Amino acid sequence: MKIMPNRMDRGFAMHQKEYEEKALQVLRSGWYVLGQEDQGFETEFAAKLGAKHCVGLASGLDALWIAFRVLGIGAGDEVIVQGNTYIASVMGITINGATPVFVEPDEYYNMDAAKIEEKITKRTKAILVTHLYGQASKMDDVTALTKKYGLRLVEDCAQSHLAGFEGKMTGTFGDVGCFSFYPSKNLGAFGEGGAVLVEDDKLAEEFRIFRNYGSEKRYYNKVVGTNSRLDELQAGLLRVRLSHLEEITQERCRIAERYLKEIQNPRLILPRVRPGATSVWHQFVLRCEDREELIAYLNEREIGTIIHYPIPPHLSQAYGYLGHKEGFLPITEQYARQVLSIPMYNGMTEVEQSYVIEALNRF
Ligand SMILES: *Cc1c(COP(=O)(O)O)cnc(C)c1O
Repeated sequence: MKIMPNRMDRGFAMHQKEYEEKALQVLRSGWYVLGQEDQGFETEFAAKLGAKHCVGLASGLDALWIAFRVLGIGAGDEVIVQGNTYIASVMGITINGATPVFVEPDEYYNMDAAKIEEKITKRTKAILVTHLYGQASKMDDVTALTKKYGLRLVEDCAQSHLAGFEGKMTGTFGDVGCFSFYPSKNLGAFGEGGAVLVEDDKLAEEFRIFRNYGSEKRYYNKVVGTNSRLDELQAGLLRVRLSHLEEITQERCRIAERYLKEIQNPRLILPRVRPGATSVWHQFVLRCEDREELIAYLNEREIGTIIHYPIPPHLSQAYGYLGHKEGFLPITEQYARQVLSIPMYNGMTEVEQSYVIEALNRF
């Protein structure tokens, strides 16, 4: 049996008719960028997550870099970020000329809140937390620090749609919650998309202006902005997916529950969920000391896997200019050598799940 790490066609098939009807409706409407689908999506997404404002954008990376831009964070400023995040989080900081200051992750693969304070300097302007693999970070500790030091808080929620900490949704803890709707995300579009959640009225307005060439009124440009608009087709399709997001999330949780209960192999370290936090299981990530052997073994059985992520940002060629060497973040680097994401997707059959479980138990 061939099992791919992800099957986006299965997620589509679950609500195929609704997607097809919505796509036709938008195509026939005669309006394709920033219209009523975008407005509808923004209202519904903000309401579902308990935020005041949502502003639709063209990608998750745009959400991140525009967040730091409108918060006025740039050259000479430092932003604290976890070492084991996807490189887009770091690019959101460095596109603005600010410096990323890396913190090691904890056992839940999120930023180790106990190691943040020692990294705060006079130049620190913000903390960027990534709720990695779908699990909320330890937000009580993080918000205590942002309050104590007067720092901005930005959340990278590209993997954590609907994940919460102590009853509050990720993306609503700080100044800006940044979301991606890349097709493989839990709330995936059928192309590119992103958004921010914002509480402050004025800040929300700044995002609206910035995403549309800095203009509030057409052809009257207040600031040098960008083009980062959510198109109507994606917004409409996202409204369909959003209306099923609880169901989509519950299905992922059921698969994860099975994996946690039935995968029993001392060579594999299973993920855990922090007390007070929830995970929406964007990825199901194991750790294994003999990872290359495990990958080869699973490949032989036609089970596909992905490494999230093999090279931590501080060791990537792109960030060579920061001057960090191997050994700088030992836990981050160890995770990069050991983590492996096993198949996890909506529409994964029980037979497929059993096949993966059995193979892992025999490894
Ligand atoms: C996917 C992702 C992004 C980037 O989103 P895009 O829409 O691809 O630009 C940022 N951060 C994390 C953690 C992600 O997983």
